[in-house]
Amino acid sequence: MSTKGDSKGSDSTPWYADGLRFGCTASGRCCSNHGEHAYVYLMEAEVTALADALGMEEAEFRKTHTRQEEGWTLLEPRGTSCVFLGETGQCGVYEARPVQCRTWPFWRENLASPEAFQALVGSICKGAGSGTLYSAEQVLHIADSTEAWYEGDLDEFPASAQVGTAPEHFPPR
Ligand code: SF4
Repeated sequence: MSTKGDSKGSDSTPWYADGLRFGCTASGRCCSNHGEHAYVYLMEAEVTALADALGMEEAEFRKTHTRQEEGWTLLEPRGTSCVFLGETGQCGVYEARPVQCRTWPFWRENLASPEAFQALVGSICKGAGSGTLYSAEQVLHIADSTEAWYEGDLDEFPASAQVGTAPEHFPPR
């Protein structure tokens, strides 16, 4: 995941100064591949959490569900979708889902411009522009925390930097 991007407008005011609305529709479309953004990156703590959630040894989990690329551990997809995506849009590892999944769509690259947000979020998810209003401060907090997590600067990911999801995205109980 490239999280590099300029989220500021030309006058240093973010283009989303009035905040952004987003409401998860549990479509699962953000869990499917969209060209170059077909990656779920895993930090060590996320590998541990996912292996625990699946009742697997970490070595077995790594062998079964991950691959290495340019020094990163990536979740190996199933076809064009995440291997943990259920048929009706549920996440099969919801409680242990990676930070990347907890913070979409407020990643830096998505926030680079209104056009980027439309291309990378609006074009694939009907939840963009509706639902909960996230203030510019909240959006930046989520984007900055995501960046810090993948740079290894955080021991724990803050609950305050997570995007809400629809109940339908939870796995069946
Ligand atoms: S781990 Fe869950 S939330 Fe993340 S991409 Fe896979 S199905 Fe979606």
